[in-house]
Amino acid sequence: MEKHTFLARLGEISLKGQNRDFFEKKLKMNIKYKLRPYRNTVKKQKGRLFIEVEKDCPVEHIHNVLSKTFGIVAYSQAIRCEKDLESILASAVSIMDKEKRPRSIKTFKVESVRSDKSFYLKSYDISKEVGHAILMAHDDLKVDVHNPDCVVKVEIRDAAYIHPYEVPGQGGLPVGTAGKALLMLSGGIDSPVAGWYMAKRGVHQEAIYFHAYPYTSDEAKEKVISLAKILNSYLEGITLHIIPFTDVQLKIKEKGREEEQTLLMRAAMMKIAEKIAADNNCEAIVTGEALSQVASQTLQSLSFTDSISPLLVLRPLIGLDKEEIIKVSRTIGTFETSILPYEDCCTLFSPKHPLVRPDKERMYQSLSHVDMDDLIEQACKDEEIIKL
Ligand code: ATP
Ligand code: MG
Repeated sequence: MEKHTFLARLGEISLKGQNRDFFEKKLKMNIKYKLRPYRNTVKKQKGRLFIEVEKDCPVEHIHNVLSKTFGIVAYSQAIRCEKDLESILASAVSIMDKEKRPRSIKTFKVESVRSDKSFYLKSYDISKEVGHAILMAHDDLKVDVHNPDCVVKVEIRDAAYIHPYEVPGQGGLPVGTAGKALLMLSGGIDSPVAGWYMAKRGVHQEAIYFHAYPYTSDEAKEKVISLAKILNSYLEGITLHIIPFTDVQLKIKEKGREEEQTLLMRAAMMKIAEKIAADNNCEAIVTGEALSQVASQTLQSLSFTDSISPLLVLRPLIGLDKEEIIKVSRTIGTFETSILPYEDCCTLFSPKHPLVRPDKERMYQSLSHVDMDDLIEQACKDEEIIKL
């Protein structure tokens, strides 16, 4: 069967020295996994990945996979053809067809690389011949060597590869190279962005959502599942743990001092997250907290929440403004879902005047007074698990 050919350029992985092999292997595995069930091969050649997928796979699917795979800095679709001038010219002319190329492209230049030095034409001559053929075939195109709209690249390797447009990728490191963490995923704007940032640094993640039914609706839960599905296109196979949180919330409401209730709830969430993380080999917790965004995210409040569990807590948004977070959430595709109007449990149980500078010792006393250990144990037992 004929194949689609893509070339991917790697970024930071290339700087990895002795560990490079580990990162490259993981990247290859991630691409292969995401392209299943279509037959595909992913090979490394001269600093690039060559990805070939059988033609029954829609080309848009491959674009979708490669543009959302961490570790790829840029990629391009290529035509692979015989290593003879006639085939190269025909392929280059066809790839620049008016119908196939973006309308904005009016000027071009050709760059050739001859990795196979036995090829009978030098790079300069290949470029000259290809440029001439494109100009003859497409009278709306002009050559501009200084500032072209596109660079038609011709590479002579085991075969000839021609690729005119590079598409930017996500950069970062292959997911799974930095271990696994548990993402606290609410239906808000921040936590999906936090998950994306950590995935970008190679952290695979499971997700946990605290659901306080009927105070939070089933739509709120569906919204979190939709967000997890969007994140799943960046991560390879998310498991979502849905924790019934109503009984914990009600006990805090009944026994906790009003101004302390948000922080007591945050503490309960951290305790549950710690248990679920331990049961699922997650080495850290990820949250969408940003410094001083709300009362529970001041230095003093974060210091209390942080002290609840010995697990490392990663807060990749800590120094970002809301506007910056929103910008990322738009580009990664979670914003429209995050702003759907279903309240999450935190907003419904929020006190009017939450503590901003909690005293840790006093908070520990309140925690033991509310005494949630059994409820926390039960909530973990009653979790619902969704594998994406
Ligand atoms: P987000 O936009 O991510 O909901 P937020 O600004 O609303 O964040 P908080 O409600 O204080 O802030 O929550 C802080 C962090 O705690 C969230 O980013 C998320 O990681 C976690 N979190 C909050 N509520 C839940 C929930 N119901 N389930 C899982 N995690 C939650
Ligand atoms: Mg929230």
